[in-house]
Order: sequence, then structure tokens, then C-alpha cells
Amino acid sequence: MNESLYPLLYSSCIPVKGANKSIICDLQNQCYIHLPNELYDIVDTLGEYSLSQYRSANDLETYLLLEKYFFSLEENRFLFFTHTPKMFPKLDFERWDCPSLISNAVIDLGTSIQFNLENVIDDLVNMGCQYLQIRSFDTLVLSDLSYRLINARIHLKDINLDLILKYYQGCKISQIKEFADLFPCISTITFHSAGFEKFYEISSHIKVTYTKTVIIDETHCGKINSEHFRANMTAFAENREWNSCLNRKIAIDKNGQIKNCPSMEFSYGLITERSIREVVLNIPEFRDLWRISKDKIQVCRDCEYRYICSDCRAYLEDPLMKPAKCSYNPYQGE
Ligand code: SF4
Ligand code: SF4
Repeated sequence: MNESLYPLLYSSCIPVKGANKSIICDLQNQCYIHLPNELYDIVDTLGEYSLSQYRSANDLETYLLLEKYFFSLEENRFLFFTHTPKMFPKLDFERWDCPSLISNAVIDLGTSIQFNLENVIDDLVNMGCQYLQIRSFDTLVLSDLSYRLINARIHLKDINLDLILKYYQGCKISQIKEFADLFPCISTITFHSAGFEKFYEISSHIKVTYTKTVIIDETHCGKINSEHFRANMTAFAENREWNSCLNRKIAIDKNGQIKNCPSMEFSYGLITERSIREVVLNIPEFRDLWRISKDKIQVCRDCEYRYICSDCRAYLEDPLMKPAKCSYNPYQGE
């Protein structure tokens, strides 16, 4: 190998150090690999030294181990060799921003209150919302949901809609298809409490899942595990500065209370008495939770997964502590 070459990580491959171990996030291929902390400083400074400089700074055995590690990173497409490392600057994550006032929302449809869903969706779309989850813990038949959503159809076209509904007997796949044809914005429909597990793709973009998981209320949310990790450019950049669950989120709980998330106690008012737009624009405190990034959270700030992990501020032992429903210990690495 030409020893004047510099080993260098691809710009989209970012090392993140934790208390016990580190990872390299590949934000382009949306994956990550583990890395022992002893190698973190070497990986973090790749591009500063050529192979010949590594050779002169180390004994032969260490150099050969390093070289082998570089080749393995190259083989897995995390690294390449170049004569001109300065031509490949690091990505600047300080400038992440989003044009939406609200980017995501959760609406729990309960039986105790009725409100105008069309007006809410209109407000969400006008504030730039791109993702909406509608949940129902009690039986809500598709025809009733369709009736409530039909006038908002035109506004929904710019939103990704996920539905979490209680399974009920007699809900045929043909009815689901009919419903999905009416609302092409739907990405997923999950039927909870189904008593069986099944998965369908009813079109190229709509997935239907039946799960035995019983969801009786909002407390099912907030679990943290590696299935929820998102190693992509947008999430990584956003998570460095902002809260990975609550940033630009608004929610209406099953009782019609406007909140940061349905599981939280604090309400900004009833949806039948004030609009979500009014809350977002006129109550500065509504945004306070948005800025609680992982770097401000005890334990999470020492975790190698902090920029790809989701967060939860609803179930906590302490306001600035890691989510109570996370069982990972970054100090032990397990
Ligand atoms: S400690 Fe924090 S960052 Fe790490 S996995 Fe748990 S919640 Fe995510
Ligand atoms: S804060 Fe927790 S409970 Fe609320 S939406 Fe986020 S993960 Fe779910």
C-alpha cells in the first residue's frame, strides 16, 4: 500500500464516543458499527496523518493492527484512502434547522370529546406538519374515522399519516383497501389488541400490521430500544441540538387536551376552546421541552447512541434524567 495515503472516514460516517464504548454512524447507509473506546481518538482524527506517519509513531505490531483495522473499515465502506484529505471537510451539524413550526403530531381520538378534526389538520398543515399519528385505544370503525377525516382529505395530502387502531371483528381487508384509497397519505395502519400477529402490504406504500399487543392508553409509549434508533442525516443533526421526540411536536390527548405529548400531565387548554395554532404561536413555554437535547440529559449524554436514539420526557425519575423506560447502561455498555 502506498504509505503517503491518508485513511479518512467518509463525511457521512461520524464517530460518537460513549462512556464505555463508541460507535461510527454511517448516516448515508443508515447503520452503525461498534468501536472500542481505545480506537476512538484514532478514528476521530483520521485524515490528519498518512500511513507513513502512523508507521513512524507506532511500533511495528501496533502499526500492523491499525492498518488491518483501516482495511476492515474500508471494506465495510466507512473509510477510504486519499492523498488530499483537506478536500473532504467534515459535515457541519451546527446549522440544522427546519422550516416547519410543527413537524409532527399525535392525536388520540377518545370517546369523551368530539372536536373538529378538519380544523386541527388544517392548522397542522399550515404550520408545516409532515407526520401525523392518529391513535384510538377504544374501537373506532374505519367508516366512522373516514367520516371524521373526509373533509380534511385535501389538507392531508402533504402529510404522512400513521394510524394505530383497536382491532375489531368484521374489519375486512377490502374495507381497509377502500379506506386507504380514500386517504393515500396513509403510510401504516396498526391494529392493536388483535389476538394474532400478521403483516400485509396492501399497496406499494401502505403497510397493515395486526399485533397481539394490547394498547389500553398512552402509557404504552416511551419505551427505548435499538429498534427505534435512526442513524440518518436528519435525525442525527436534529438530535444534537433538539429533543429527539418532542421537538416541534404537538399532541391532543384522548380528553381533547392540547399537550406536548399525550402522556404528559400539563395541558395548554382544551381543543374545543382554543386552537393548536394559538398554543404554538402564543405560549412560549410550549417550546421549552424542544431544546432538551441528549447532551443535556444525565446518563444519555455519556451514551454512544445519543444522537441516533429517541427520547422520552414523559416517563422519568428526574426531569433531566434518561428515560425511565430505557434499560441500557452506557457505563457498563450493556
Ligand atoms: S441511555 Fe439515553 S441515549 Fe442511551 S440508549 Fe438509553 S435513552 Fe438512548
Ligand atoms: S415523550 Fe415519551 S410518551 Fe411522549 S410521545 Fe415521546 S416517547 Fe411517547
